[in-house]
Amino acid sequence: MAKFPENLSAMKGFLSADEGETLYKTAEMASKLGPILEIGSYCGKSTIYLALGCRENNKIVFTIDHHKGSEEHQIGDSFHDTDLVNPQTGEIDSFAEFRKNISSAGVEDNIVPIVAKSTVVANVWQIPLAMVFIDGGHSLQAALTDYRSWSKFLLRGGFLAIHDVFEAPEKGGQAPRAIHDLAINSGLFLPHMEVDSLRVLQRL
Ligand code: SAH
Ligand code: MG
Repeated sequence: MAKFPENLSAMKGFLSADEGETLYKTAEMASKLGPILEIGSYCGKSTIYLALGCRENNKIVFTIDHHKGSEEHQIGDSFHDTDLVNPQTGEIDSFAEFRKNISSAGVEDNIVPIVAKSTVVANVWQIPLAMVFIDGGHSLQAALTDYRSWSKFLLRGGFLAIHDVFEAPEKGGQAPRAIHDLAINSGLFLPHMEVDSLRVLQRL
């Protein structure tokens, strides 16, 4: 098992240590089959866990984010972080923090950052994927679009991971749960792992 960098748990992000370890293990397994893609890089915390798994097999994780934050990260919203406001623009910009973190974790050679909207990338994408981690926009529209755009690239035996799946609406928004249920009901996926709000499904 790779030793996780000491400062990883303290990095800005929305992932428990157990969820991170599950991403690492799944990526380690999946990256034997092919590349991994993440939607929602933010400050790189989840990306680093995925990249450490990829590094075991000399593989890479593509990670997509426009770095302008989701709805809940905007100024005045519940998950806003004032440190991430770019003083030049007055707007959220998580890319500098992301670059700093992946450099300090020593995994730059296992990460290909794509700074763009998820849909813009999906429209031209052609590479089959061994794992897709959906943790981007949490509106129903955004989550559905990510599920529809990206799950079709999964190889048989590959993994679909979804973050922020909450059974009870009081605990959190229901869009990630909706796409999780869609995937299960499609008959194309079986549950593989469940840790905190992370669900990992395997493509049949
Ligand atoms: N996976 C990260 C947290 C991601 S937060 C972690 O666990 O550490 C969600 C991110 O999705 C934000 O950084 C936001 O900018 C990005 N995002 C939201 N909607 C997007 C879209 N349509 N295209 C690309 N990125 C998007
Ligand atoms: Mg999340």
